[in-house]
Amino acid sequence: MRKTIAVMTSGGDSPGMNAATRAVVRTAISGGARVFGIYNGYQGLVENDMFEMNKRSVSDIIQRGGTILGTARSQEFMTPEGRAKAAENLRERGIEGLIVIGGDGSLRGAQQLADEQNVAVVGLPGTIDNDIWGMDYTIGSDTAANTIIDAINKLRDTASAHRRIAVLEVMGRHSGWLALITGMSGGAEYILVPEELYDLNEIAAEIRSMYEENQKRYVLIVVAEGAGSAIEIGIRLEDKTGIETRASVLGHIQRGGSPTVMDRVRASSLGEQATLALISGVSNVVYGVQHGRIVNVNLYDAVTKKKQLDPEYIRMAKALA
Ligand code: ADP
Repeated sequence: MRKTIAVMTSGGDSPGMNAATRAVVRTAISGGARVFGIYNGYQGLVENDMFEMNKRSVSDIIQRGGTILGTARSQEFMTPEGRAKAAENLRERGIEGLIVIGGDGSLRGAQQLADEQNVAVVGLPGTIDNDIWGMDYTIGSDTAANTIIDAINKLRDTASAHRRIAVLEVMGRHSGWLALITGMSGGAEYILVPEELYDLNEIAAEIRSMYEENQKRYVLIVVAEGAGSAIEIGIRLEDKTGIETRASVLGHIQRGGSPTVMDRVRASSLGEQATLALISGVSNVVYGVQHGRIVNVNLYDAVTKKKQLDPEYIRMAKALA
């Protein structure tokens, strides 16, 4: 059994990271292990910025977005020397295992640390992008999707009043999951994602005929940031269609907010399972949810394989638009 572990949040923050941290700390202590909290992700690990936590250290945080441990992006950790320092800081305190809550990049970092320094790591997928291979859910994705839906509902009201085209840009540099899920559930006419090619001329022609035939009062387009800028797309569409167009960029609002029930429950279960696994000797895995069940995925697979958008959702979004 591992007697001392540490936990960190890293990379882009996501709602539910706190609920996961809380579950890790309380499960570890209930299981008889000590647990250190590392501030500011890998940067804090390299700088030895950590403290021992108790059950009360995580009181009153399950409902909060962001992360009480802080997060950062660390250039130093990207070097082998930085990772050696990080591992040394863990060894000096007798820390035998590490839980990393973060996105794709953070899990890559965890894999490097395991590979080069033989650190026992268990990952938890903390990212609003829902882009980790081997699982169909990541902590924070549900809250972010609900924040976007709220914005879409408001945009639809005003777009409908004016017969405008509304273009909404949502997060997702490499993954169109947020755009797809919110576009589909928000009833968007078009969803533009980095994984799929699109032709603005074709879209403009279709919108023109929809307006001419009075089929639609307005058109909503959801675009993932990796598929183009809403502002540029808006200018080009207005130019091509002659229809008044308004672009909105939702930005960092998507990362914040009190986590939804789903994010709280899943972050808690995942945090608990990951901790039980780590203290009982398991490592090099990422805990996630697939088809509603908790699964563990090999860490190397999670960071080297690319998750695809669900083709059934792509088809359905088009069929129902
Ligand atoms: P996210 O985890 O949200 O995808 P980043 O991609 O910014 O966020 O990654 C967070 C941190 O993880 C980086 O600042 C860096 O310290 C570390 N990291 C990312 N990619 C690697 C990598 N290939 N090797 C080592 N460390 C990495």
